[in-house]
Amino acid sequence: MKPVTGLISLIVPAYNEEENLPVLVDRLTEVMSPYDQYEILVIDDGSSDRTRQVLRQLSQAYSTVRFISFSRNFGHQMALRAGYEHARGQCVISLDADLQHPPELIPTLIEKWREGYEVVYTVREPDFNASWFKRTTSQQFYRLLRKVSDLSLEDGAADFRLLDRVVVDSLNQFKENDLFVRGMISWMGFRQARIVYRPAARFAGTTKYSLRKMVKLALMGITSFSTRPLYLSVFLGFLMSIGAGIFGLEVLYEKYFTNQTVSGWTTLVLLMVLMGGIQFIVIGIMGVYLGKTFIEVKKRPSFIVSDSSEIEEIAELEWK
Ligand code: UDP
Ligand code: MG
Repeated sequence: MKPVTGLISLIVPAYNEEENLPVLVDRLTEVMSPYDQYEILVIDDGSSDRTRQVLRQLSQAYSTVRFISFSRNFGHQMALRAGYEHARGQCVISLDADLQHPPELIPTLIEKWREGYEVVYTVREPDFNASWFKRTTSQQFYRLLRKVSDLSLEDGAADFRLLDRVVVDSLNQFKENDLFVRGMISWMGFRQARIVYRPAARFAGTTKYSLRKMVKLALMGITSFSTRPLYLSVFLGFLMSIGAGIFGLEVLYEKYFTNQTVSGWTTLVLLMVLMGGIQFIVIGIMGVYLGKTFIEVKKRPSFIVSDSSEIEEIAELEWK
């Protein structure tokens, strides 16, 4: 068994979590007290409340707390990514700022890591205390994702996990902008251990995952791991061509061998509408992929750091 030596990093994406962070840091400090060295790296995802000031105070009060502030809201996945890039530990544990991911589970994650697992991921119990809407949409999303991609992501696989340094280093090599971290980790392999937990209620504030952000995450998860929707459009295209061929033959037959004339008007209108619809779907699917190509080709940075505890340290060094 690996002894716990070296640094353990805890990374926490936070978007408008001013009330939660002091409590979280307290709880984490308590949980982490048996371990020699650890750091709490909070990624402030362009918060508009006092999160940044709170972090500055916390990083002054606790030598273990570091933070990075984004210049605007880049989203949870980008915050996680920044966390993985800036964490310095031998293992990196990611958890939410709202205390829904119980800090008391961290020693269990570390225990598994010591047993030699490189990825320790968690799955929440199915009857977690979220709204009916959130539970069903999340369940359906994972079901759909498993169907269209080759990923075997489980229901309720949230971003509460431990990664070994090796995994973090390989994750950091992925330069794609649409990084769906959950999917990527499931896809990368390594020795993975699974832990089931019961999520707590959000400590303070409201969810930062609006419906819009949820849909965006779901679309990103699917389109960054599957090209099957593209094949669907090809399949539909074939089906339509065959249908059109048969229908064309029938129209020709009616025109030349019978004397029924404009009787098929309704059919024609219906068909036009139907085909128009299908064409739109197909074009839409292609548009999604074209959009992704467009974004990837530009190779924009995934985030821009506007402030961090490091910048100050460097400044201090220069003054000395
Ligand atoms: N979060 C973030 N950027 C965002 C949205 C959320 O960094 O744009 C963080 C948020 O502060 C929290 C975590 O991601 O630490 C999970 O968000 P939340 O708890 O609101 O989601 P829920 O638990 O409701 O799914
Ligand atoms: Mg939450």
